[in-house]
Order: sequence, then structure tokens, then C-alpha cells
Amino acid sequence: MARPVVAEIDLDRICHNFRIASSITPRGNTIAVVKADAYGHGVTEVCKALASAAPAFATASIEEAMVIRKAGLLHPVLLLEGFFDSYELSDISVSGFWTVVHNEFQIRCLEVERISKPISVWLKIDTGMSRLGFPVGEAENAFRRLKDNPNVRNIVIMTHLANADAGGSTLLSVNDQIARIPRMVLEPEGQLSIANSAGLLAHEVARRSWQRPGIMLYGSSPLNLDNEYSRQLLPAMTLKSRIIATRWIEQGGQVGYGGRFIAPKRTRVGTVAVGYADGYPRQAAEGTPVFVSGRRVGLVGRVSMDMLTVDITDIPDVDVGAEVELWGDNVLANEVASSSGTIAYHLFTSVTRRVRRIYKSSSAVERLALPT
Ligand SMILES: *Cc1c(COP(=O)(O)O)cnc(C)c1O
Repeated sequence: MARPVVAEIDLDRICHNFRIASSITPRGNTIAVVKADAYGHGVTEVCKALASAAPAFATASIEEAMVIRKAGLLHPVLLLEGFFDSYELSDISVSGFWTVVHNEFQIRCLEVERISKPISVWLKIDTGMSRLGFPVGEAENAFRRLKDNPNVRNIVIMTHLANADAGGSTLLSVNDQIARIPRMVLEPEGQLSIANSAGLLAHEVARRSWQRPGIMLYGSSPLNLDNEYSRQLLPAMTLKSRIIATRWIEQGGQVGYGGRFIAPKRTRVGTVAVGYADGYPRQAAEGTPVFVSGRRVGLVGRVSMDMLTVDITDIPDVDVGAEVELWGDNVLANEVASSSGTIAYHLFTSVTRRVRRIYKSSSAVERLALPT
């Protein structure tokens, strides 16, 4: 038998989550953000599953977008960081990708490069995230130059929210950020894109022509957001393995590297075949929930490269071979993340190549695959 760690990916649930996302703005358009290998879920399989529902996808780079083309899908793909070299423009043009334009270098490339057909451009404005985009004061000038550029087919105005998942009190509110977008770039029929998952789930004012949800498609609510929409999301990934050894530890005995766990009483410990080299966070605190044979127990001791240990004292019927869920329906990725000082995005994108992905879908993915 193979090493039992697997990531089960339920493609029907990703479609369900996409339907929830789209239903929030029935008149707007919803782009499926599938950067970073669809947040670790497998970009080819995810895009094929969403092919008939999603009007467009978004990735971080042209390299990631090309994987979608190789899967045989002809959807527009928005490049969220735009291009990094002028030579990418001809591929963007030929492939029908959409590019973010966030700096002077990219505008100039678009002005001097010869391309076969004009490109759709998303002009990114920095309204307070201070990461990517034209400063508010330079946005009008950038907009005018793009308007006059024959290489530009159309312009969508875009910005990214810094605090959409922060709840009530923040220094920079969603409203503040939106108010900073210069009026002049917002044409009467113009297109505007503001919302990521948190913006879409929690801020009506952020729901505009194009939404850009990522994490919610994979069934995870951004940080601690909890509302009528987020409660309908279904986790798409289940990280699973099995118990491969059990033992009794006498009171005072230690478990794992550095003896972080010292048994306060006689304790039965199960060893699970999953570790940080599979993507389980090494930072996971003592007591992080783990689901073993239908019950929640706690992590004990440090996570090692290929294994971790759990306290199974209270579930005596559990033995070698018992199924373990590291995250999924019974232990949310958000719980493991908050117990490890990180976020579910980080957990999903950290699942490594040696973890086999198993896809579940009511319409067989194989049928959608094109002959190679
Ligand atoms: C990643 C990303 C998104 C999606 O964010 P989520 O929080 O995963 O919904 C949207 N817009 C931009 C610009 C991004 O980089």
C-alpha cells in the first residue's frame, strides 16, 4: 500500500462555492481566481470543473495562465500582476489574456510594442494597500494614456482591498478605499473591479462589475468572516492520512523532537503519516485539533518532516490503520491555521507535490480532458 497521505479534492464543492459567489451579484461577473495552482487544488482540474460556469479565470502570471490554455480551455485569463517583460505582450495578445497594468514600465511597454491585436487592460489603482497599483494622484494620467493607446482594447478599473476581512474598526475602511478612486476614471458605462472573497462576502459597496473571489471557491471563509454567505461554503480539500503506529507513554515520558510534550499522565499516542514535508504546518501548537476515526483529538509534540503524533488515550478502539483527517469538514483549515499562526491560504498552497491529489466529481473529469 502507498503512503496514506492524500488530498481529496471535491470538484462539485468548488462548483457549489462558485455558484454561491456568483449568486451574491447576479448582475455582476465573477472571475475564478486560480493562481498558485488553484490555491493548491490543481489548476487544470479546477478550471475544467468550472469551465461552463466561470466567464474568466485569474492567475499571477502568464506561465500560470498558459497551463489553462494547455488544458484546452479558451477562457480569458486575467494576469493579476500583469507582465514582467515586454516580450510577454505578444503572447498575451495572441492568447487573449487580460493584463493588469500597475506601473509606468508596463504602460510604456504597451506604448512601444507592436502586437497583433489589442489587449484588455485592468488599470490597477493603489487606494491604500500600498503594494501594487498607480498612486491615486497618477491614476488619471495613466488612464488617459491607456485610452489613447491603440494597443489597448478596453480598460477595467481595479483596486484591491486591505481590510475587507477586518470587521468593524480599522484605520482604512473599505469605504475609504473606494472613495479614493478618482471620479474621472469611472466612466458612466465603465467597468470596475474591487472585491476579493472578503469584499464580496461582506461589503455590498465593493460588489461591482467584476468580482475576484479566490479562497471562498475552495470553501474557506477569509479569516474569521462569518455571515449568511460564508456559512454556505463547503470545504473542497480534505487532507487525510492514517495512524501508522500507537504506543503508551508513562507519566513524565516525552514525545517527539525536543520533548515539547511531556505526558502529564499515562498517555496513548498515535503516530500519523503526515508531516511538514507534506505541508502540515510545523508551527502547529500543542492541542491543534486532529480528526481520528470520527473523533476530534489533539496534536501532541512537535510536527516532524514525515509524521506527527496525537493523543488517542480517550479513543481506545483506534489502532494502526485508523483514518485521520488533518483538515476538511470536521477540522476546518481555518482552525489548524489559527492554531499555527497562519491562514488557510498558506496551508492550501503549502501542500507539497508528494501528496497525491484525488479528485471527486459527479461528472468525471476524464470526460472533459482533451486528447493529448
Ligand atoms: C489573490 C487575489 C484575489 C483573490 O483573493 P481571495 O482573498 O483569495 O478571495 C483577488 N484579487 C487579487 C488582486 C488577488 O491577488
